[in-house]
Amino acid sequence: MTAYPELQLYIDGAWRTTATDLPVIDPATEDVIGQVPVAGPTDLDDALAAAAAGFEVWRATPPRERAALIVGAAALMRARQEEIAHAITLEHGKPLVEARAEVIRGAEFFEWDAGEAMRTYGRVIPSGPNVKHVVHHQPIGPVAAFSPWNFPFSQPARKVAGALASGCSIILKAAEETPAGAMHIARAFHEAGLPPGVLNLVFGVPADISEHLIASDVIRLVAFTGSTAVGRHLTGMASDHMTSVLMELGGHAPVIVCEDTDVEAAAASSAIRAMRNAGQVCTSPTRFFVHEAVYEQFLDGITRRCETTVVGPGLEPGVEMGPVANDRRLAAVGELVADACAAGGTLTTGGHRIGDTGYFHEPTVLADVSDHARIMQEEPFGPVAIVNPVDSLDTAIERANSVPFGLAAYGFTNRADYVDRMVDRVEAGNLSINMLEASLPETPFGGVKSSGYGREGGTEGLHHYMVVKTVSHSIPII
Ligand code: NAD
Repeated sequence: MTAYPELQLYIDGAWRTTATDLPVIDPATEDVIGQVPVAGPTDLDDALAAAAAGFEVWRATPPRERAALIVGAAALMRARQEEIAHAITLEHGKPLVEARAEVIRGAEFFEWDAGEAMRTYGRVIPSGPNVKHVVHHQPIGPVAAFSPWNFPFSQPARKVAGALASGCSIILKAAEETPAGAMHIARAFHEAGLPPGVLNLVFGVPADISEHLIASDVIRLVAFTGSTAVGRHLTGMASDHMTSVLMELGGHAPVIVCEDTDVEAAAASSAIRAMRNAGQVCTSPTRFFVHEAVYEQFLDGITRRCETTVVGPGLEPGVEMGPVANDRRLAAVGELVADACAAGGTLTTGGHRIGDTGYFHEPTVLADVSDHARIMQEEPFGPVAIVNPVDSLDTAIERANSVPFGLAAYGFTNRADYVDRMVDRVEAGNLSINMLEASLPETPFGGVKSSGYGREGGTEGLHHYMVVKTVSHSIPII
């Protein structure tokens, strides 16, 4: 299998290293597997100048040509699925099978948005004689994008796809802890022939980079995926410059399990989904509100499935869950579980670190947790499912809506009236019924409340990367 890649910055169509590096750590062994270069002010100024020049070239490139180039780069990524997946598993810890799926999902984001690049239609507004109003959609300009460590490949793919399909240039600051996925994206576009400056990739000290880039007049959109706290901070900085933002922030997804559903199937699929990516997904099903008539059966089912989850290094065959991605997550999950138990919650399985090397944590189910426990208010972002009984659908919806987040939400029921009530009243950007998938290339994805604003994916996915220009034209009769 290929070694972990050498990490570089990619600015104005060229690779560069810097004098300062940060270590990249394998969370399964705690070994240092690579060094990521830290961009300084000169690198960032170069990236800004390149993005400004690249934008002029790319906005003038016909959408069909843009789409063909993006699809060509995605084909290279698909061809390198094994190599990219291996690097993701090394730096992030997730099982190889999940890393492989992530590479394909990232390629699909590019392919979908490439199609949308050719459909950014405007419209003609009827008016008086000899006057026409035409609405145009035009690329907003150079984008500063910040992608997180939980999906090293598909998270940067979302941002690069939206920007490039819309005709924008982009400076991507990918996560320093998991840099290889973004490196592979830049490599594929470089080889596919993307003009210099259209895509620039930097790493470094997150606060230094965001302050430098957002303060620049070159940047017209700040696109961020990560925690609500950081999103709020970046939005504040962007507002000082009247710069648009696209914010995909945290979630704490409720799952409403009604009394009429197939409880065993709902419990088994919930356990698998809650432990996917070791629970480090903004759409992870985390807060389960289960009708009291089926509560014990559901709790037993999800506990049994979690107990049998195979935990280990992601490169080992048969492993279903790897370590959490960093020591911060290990500590944070431990604290939240201890607090929940102190508040009267019951552990039905898990709850502890596994071993003392690598950031492994047991798949964990907590039952009967008070709404006052921290874990009911804060996103666990780890392998934890919290299961509570409710006496009615109305109570479940009320508790589902009781947190500041509103990203994904899920329901299990076969009753149309229950579905209708959830559709009307659950506060979420994405509601899935009898399935636990929330984020697809072809559907708009994003949050309400503190989960952010703007949408990625679907037709709506390019809206934030574009501005509306209305042209009113009085046509003289000659
Ligand atoms: P964090 O809040 O410090 O960082 C979150 C992300 O923001 C990281 O990628 C980090 O590099 C970036 N970041 C931090 N400060 C920044 C700044 N000033 N400018 C630009 N980028 C900055 O915490 P963390 O320990 O990395 O993650 C913890 C929490 O983040 C999790 O509990 C989860 O809620 C959230 N998170 C959400 C997602 C998501 O997909 N929505 C992904 C990763 C993390």
